[in-house]
Amino acid sequence: MDGMVPVSGRQRAVTGRALAILLFILVVSNLLASPVEGTTATATEGAYSFPLSDAIMSDPDGFLILVNTDHPLSSSDKPADLVNVSARKTSSTAIQLRKPVSLALSELFDAAKSDGLTLYIHSGYRSYQTQRDMFAIRMERLGYDDKMVQKAGASDHQTGMGADVINKALIGQRFGESYAGTKEGQWLAEHCAEFGFVIRYPKGKEGVTGINYEPWHLRYVGPDAARYMTDAGITLEELWEQWDAYQSGEWVGGGDDAPGAFVIDDGELVGGG
Ligand SMILES: [Zn+2]
Repeated sequence: MDGMVPVSGRQRAVTGRALAILLFILVVSNLLASPVEGTTATATEGAYSFPLSDAIMSDPDGFLILVNTDHPLSSSDKPADLVNVSARKTSSTAIQLRKPVSLALSELFDAAKSDGLTLYIHSGYRSYQTQRDMFAIRMERLGYDDKMVQKAGASDHQTGMGADVINKALIGQRFGESYAGTKEGQWLAEHCAEFGFVIRYPKGKEGVTGINYEPWHLRYVGPDAARYMTDAGITLEELWEQWDAYQSGEWVGGGDDAPGAFVIDDGELVGGG
């Protein structure tokens, strides 16, 4: 309560009137300001607004970076804020993530722990060079691309925001879809958005991501985007597709009332549910 000065009844009345006048001015100036088309995401474009704000979609922190075969990173792309994760790991080898992502992951691990579940991070940031070697080894072993290991530049792990999170039983084992049925896999699917993560390669979206279902691969996108993407059932690819549609005036659905339900003008369903 330091610095609190007692306010007399008269002072309070004056302050109250000043506030009322200020509020009046604000309301009037707002009414007089003519709407400028397409300046912000929250302004209505036609009858619908985009579920995420312009500020989020302008992505100042790079949390929404889309990396895949069509949008690869270069060999010199490396996050500037990588740190060694303090979350529990599957081995003693250091694992790196971008600092805000590492912090969010620790919070997620703590929350899982208080629900009685122990999570382990198996893999985080991977350099272009590491990914190139992994792909080469995989191809040499199998003789074909089974899409379990991405080509250099195409891995979500190079963003420093992708993390493979597993349970104790999976350590040293081959990861598979059955992880989704474990208590830990279910917990992740249910709660990861609260900490800003999404399941980057969901089931049924293989045609969109080009990658098999990976219930262990979390990707940080920030809490608002994570909540929207999870509720709408869309991938990062689809989020940018929606944004493009919105920006070109083709967005005819969505908004706060129905975050996942939308179509594109020509009737093609791009996402939703
Ligand atoms: Zn992964």
